[in-house]
Amino acid sequence: MDTLSSVSATQQAIDLEWNYGAHNYKPVPVVLNRGEGIFLWDVEGKKYYDFLSAYSAVSQGHCHPRIISALIEQAQRLTLTSRAFHTDQLGVCEKFLCDYFGYDKVLMMNSGVEGGETALKLTRKWAYKVKGIPQNQAKTVYATGNFWGRTLAAISSSTDPESTNDYGPLLPGYLLVPYNDLNALETVFRQDPHIAGFMVEPIQGEAGVVVPDEGYLKGVRELCTQYNVLFIADEVQTGIGRTGKRLACDHENVKPDLLVLGKALSGGTMPVSAVLANDEVMLTIKPGEHGSTYGGNPLACAVTMAALKVIEDEKLADNAARMGEVFRNRMQALIEKESLVTLVRGKGLLNAIVVSGHPAYGEKTAWEICLRLKDRGLLCKPTHGDKIRFAPPLVITEEQMHEACDIIEQTILAFV
Ligand code: PLP
Repeated sequence: MDTLSSVSATQQAIDLEWNYGAHNYKPVPVVLNRGEGIFLWDVEGKKYYDFLSAYSAVSQGHCHPRIISALIEQAQRLTLTSRAFHTDQLGVCEKFLCDYFGYDKVLMMNSGVEGGETALKLTRKWAYKVKGIPQNQAKTVYATGNFWGRTLAAISSSTDPESTNDYGPLLPGYLLVPYNDLNALETVFRQDPHIAGFMVEPIQGEAGVVVPDEGYLKGVRELCTQYNVLFIADEVQTGIGRTGKRLACDHENVKPDLLVLGKALSGGTMPVSAVLANDEVMLTIKPGEHGSTYGGNPLACAVTMAALKVIEDEKLADNAARMGEVFRNRMQALIEKESLVTLVRGKGLLNAIVVSGHPAYGEKTAWEICLRLKDRGLLCKPTHGDKIRFAPPLVITEEQMHEACDIIEQTILAFV
């Protein structure tokens, strides 16, 4: 037998990535080549429950037929013109987004981090043109543990050394407050008249699905109004049905001044992000002052409208709320049986368990559990060491949820 054919298809693909790609990720060792609904298949033909959904981007399920039809139909007509010209899709999509989320205007970009950066630029423009902060003095506040992407603007607010090591100098004009601490927020607002905005995740995803106390978002809204500071909600991960409501801010009936969306906005087909705001904020940016070659392209517009209609027509936020209850109840029952899992938390279908260090694996315990889950047919990934995030597509049925929870339970109970 020649040596090449004796190497599995899985190992060949992993080796290719290792040999030719940058080493900026450490993936679970599985090579996927097909997805449908809540399932993924690897190159050996093995089927898995997808309990990551590409970090909450594939909320509508893999290759949703309506989204893929919209994609194909639009791709056959027109994909990109740049914003040098108008298209028959952009205005329609912009109106759709404004009506759907209740804002005057929207600015479409591509990745989530570009959405966050656009919100930051809008906030600084507003600071100088509307609030009257002296030039180059505007500050923005972030919560410790935040994550909004990998550009320099995003990591400049990061409290995770892995994200920032050797990338300095970082951007100035940033302040940090502890997450879920309204007193600390009020203190910085009171002390510094040059604060323009507070950007916050309604639930911190990457930090390990940290859910703030009830009333936190309402408190943020009130403080931002009182001190004339823009409330920027980063709903890139929590938005679009994921937490059991259209937006996570809807749990407390608060409306941010700037709403940042991404990920599931395109149902996992292509990078689409958006920032929504009212005219006072959005119209501070004039032609030529911000943009993106691909932002608002006709393909993105067609896909975005289809992806949001699927969320609505299939009542996926309600399903997320119900299935999230099932998941947390099952995990709570597991905690009572097995001390390896110490906590379950989350909202809707954005959840995490916290695991204690197993004597044999220590800090690697969560990673080892994810490997065993993969072997038993469920894919997920640890976040921040001892936490495992579980975020399946929102189309999961109750029967499937129980089957997936059985896999998690059996894996944890058999873990040695
Ligand atoms: N904001 C939040 C809350 C996120 O979780 C992420 C990505 O995980 C981002 C922003 C950045 O999105 P992207 O990776 O598409 O740039």
